[in-house]
Amino acid sequence: MVLWNDEKLGLEISIIIDDTTLGPGLGGTRWRAYPTKTEALVDNSRLARDMTYKLALAVGEDTELAKAGVSFGGGKAVIRGEATQDKNKRKEQLRAYAELINSIGGRFVTSVDVGTSVDDVIVMREVTEWVTGLPQEMGGSGDPSPVTAMGVVWGLKACLGAVYDTESFKGKTVAIQGIAGKVGGSLARMLASEGAILIGADINEAGAQKIAREVGARLIPSDEIHKQECDIFSANAFGGVLNDDTIPELRCRIVGGAANNQLWEPRKHAAMLQDRGILHAPEFWINGGGVINVAHEFHPRGYSQERAFADIKRIYDRGKEMIETSRKEKMPLFTAAIRLAEDRIRKAKTVGKPAQRHG
Ligand code: NAD
Repeated sequence: MVLWNDEKLGLEISIIIDDTTLGPGLGGTRWRAYPTKTEALVDNSRLARDMTYKLALAVGEDTELAKAGVSFGGGKAVIRGEATQDKNKRKEQLRAYAELINSIGGRFVTSVDVGTSVDDVIVMREVTEWVTGLPQEMGGSGDPSPVTAMGVVWGLKACLGAVYDTESFKGKTVAIQGIAGKVGGSLARMLASEGAILIGADINEAGAQKIAREVGARLIPSDEIHKQECDIFSANAFGGVLNDDTIPELRCRIVGGAANNQLWEPRKHAAMLQDRGILHAPEFWINGGGVINVAHEFHPRGYSQERAFADIKRIYDRGKEMIETSRKEKMPLFTAAIRLAEDRIRKAKTVGKPAQRHG
């Protein structure tokens, strides 16, 4: 963990590298006004652990990245405080943060998250090579959000196949929380084009109406969305949405969306969903599309959309495998996903170094 304060620049930064068994820690930088240092650190460490699991599942042995020897562990950074409106000050802060990343010598690679943007990555790239998620015109992978949505679609297909006789969205009702968001909006477009019937909610009413008109979604109040009778409830807004209060109110067969940390108490609430017969797609599996895409900037031959999208499709294959395990062993998919991720890390720890000849 790296903790860094610069009072003059108004920066309070924590970088947590959770596990480097599979490679340098990769994770976004969240810039948020956490009320206390403790809250910032607790969130940072939880998010960093999530990245470890996400990357262990995302760069499975069969992927283009793994074939090229590119693999990452989990990490995450938090900048605690209000972001400034002063562009020059922000630039100065970002350059100082990029220097800090340089000082840990490639053990941590970062990208955008809540409160940071591609413009920030461009500023930091002038100082450090350990950033990813650059625009396509700079040879980067571009906006990760539609690609995250694409991964969610692949994951949901695997879930549909397990719950219904078909993997088709045609005629299936999907309730999207956060439909006006970057991921929620892209997801709505993709699902509409696959014939899904959409219900949506968002606190951004104007944004929600715009996308609803485009995709033909029915809008309902935000606090009602998880209660809708539907095939899939897709959470794409905020964490902790699956809890003691909401789980008994769900009327769906599948829960799967991009929002991070959806389970308020992970093991307890994964088990509650399982007991209700609802297939819950853990987000560190299903929302890996964006991170897979940015990780491809580190491919030795540079970013290629074809290779990146091939790896994103693996979210589907990984899902089939984990659903099979969870069914056989009667465990929540959440537990099966953690087990697969931890197995992969353990295996990497125990693989012996290749023999070397001396002389
Ligand atoms: P975003 O801010 O663009 O979208 C979130 C949307 O949720 C906004 O439209 C917001 O108005 C809405 N919202 C907030 N509170 C709400 C409420 N109470 N009820 C209904 N809607 C509400 O963010 P995003 O980039 O689309 O990310 C969405 C989620 O997915 C986040 O949890 C994020 O951490 C996660 N995620 C995003 C990516 C990515 O590539 N963008 C990747 C992985 C995970």
